[in-house]
Amino acid sequence: MTKRRGGLLHGDWSGTWPVAETGAGVYLYDRDGRQFLDAVGGAHVVTIGHGVSEIANAMAEQARKLAYASSRTWVNEPQLELAELIRSRTPPGLVWVYFTSSGSEAAEMAMQLARQYHLERNEPERHRIIGRWHSYHGGTLGAVGMGGHAVHRSRLEPYLPRARHVASPQCAHCPFDLNHPSCEIKCATDLVDAIEHAGHETVAAFIAEPIGGTTSGALEPPTGYYESIRSICDEYGILFIADEVVTGFGRTGRDFAIQHWNAIPDLILCSKGLASGYAPLGAVVVHERVADTIRDGTGSVSLRMTYSGHPVSCAAGLAVQRHIADLHLVDRCASMGDYLKERLTEMGKASAFVSEVRGRGLLLAVELAAEPDRGVAFPRIERAQERVVAEAFRRGMLLMGGSGTASSPDGDHILISPPFILTEAEGDLLVELLQQSIAAALVEGH
Ligand code: PMP
Repeated sequence: MTKRRGGLLHGDWSGTWPVAETGAGVYLYDRDGRQFLDAVGGAHVVTIGHGVSEIANAMAEQARKLAYASSRTWVNEPQLELAELIRSRTPPGLVWVYFTSSGSEAAEMAMQLARQYHLERNEPERHRIIGRWHSYHGGTLGAVGMGGHAVHRSRLEPYLPRARHVASPQCAHCPFDLNHPSCEIKCATDLVDAIEHAGHETVAAFIAEPIGGTTSGALEPPTGYYESIRSICDEYGILFIADEVVTGFGRTGRDFAIQHWNAIPDLILCSKGLASGYAPLGAVVVHERVADTIRDGTGSVSLRMTYSGHPVSCAAGLAVQRHIADLHLVDRCASMGDYLKERLTEMGKASAFVSEVRGRGLLLAVELAAEPDRGVAFPRIERAQERVVAEAFRRGMLLMGGSGTASSPDGDHILISPPFILTEAEGDLLVELLQQSIAAALVEGH
């Protein structure tokens, strides 16, 4: 353990950084040889597991052959092959791929592409992005501006672009106090009010995580939500950006989470699962209607990043995606997700502090509550999720937590997003450690 200056890593925890030394399968090991079950795949990143030698070999081979050629002048083989592979897995019509090194960069590039699309169409006043409260799209200024994370926003407010936000779909804590289906999906139609309020001629795009990630905790919208969002965007000539940085490349049991619904985005952001953490890599995938408009207009995009299409990162992404296809890991993610969700649900019913288990595939969340039957959340000041995460760490398991609902800073959830190779026995261990951690953190601490 290395002493850490300043704040704590995960809330109430010991104030030291563990030093990660090796990874194998679903486990990480620190330099004292202590084993940790990686129940969140790093940060919803690792899909194929740690320490897969064939990926390391593909990267080393590429580095020996060609480590870098400027993206201003060149493309390279793994970049072309990976772009083709991405095209074959994204929904129909998404044809053009621009590589980045991270999810935040993909979010920035998507904003610029949305802006350029409207400029090419001679609608220069369209500049606003509408996002959702309780969302996360990255740590760079533009991405924080689109995001609806109140704490991040409050720190940076003076620098942020003037985005607008609508409520996240959150049936268990409906921000409109309605019930589905009699609500007529008010959380989607509320976008119309936001567009009208902003001035519809000024709105460029709407961005959403198809299934929420860390901040909202594997939140799924009600049936019909994305179909309604798609038709509102069409009606107002607004682009729909799906942030699949967490969900892309299989995590929810489909290649892309939006494929659970009948709505095709104009731009898709992806990153984490693309190279499963073996290299920094992200991408924006662009629908032909946007790409064609730009091609038929000025004909060039002014996106310039030194490491776009980096040969070694693309070689890692290609090797990871081939490995996923060879071992049918997306199907495995779907079936292991069903198994784990069932086991977590059983655990939740037996626990005094679990109000809901939700999510799809291996993007699951366990919602904690002080009094689940009466819908009473833990007050934020009790730092319930941080305490559970800390107890799990003591027991040799890595978790992530989030807090707050659409209407309150109170409320806690624990994210479960292990690598797709998790076995049932490892899943059982995960559930047992989580149950112990919740009991230790909340029974004793409450
Ligand atoms: N979008 C979502 C949904 C994310 O969860 C994240 C990262 N947690 C990002 C974008 C930003 O990705 P990165 O940290 O790679 O910049």
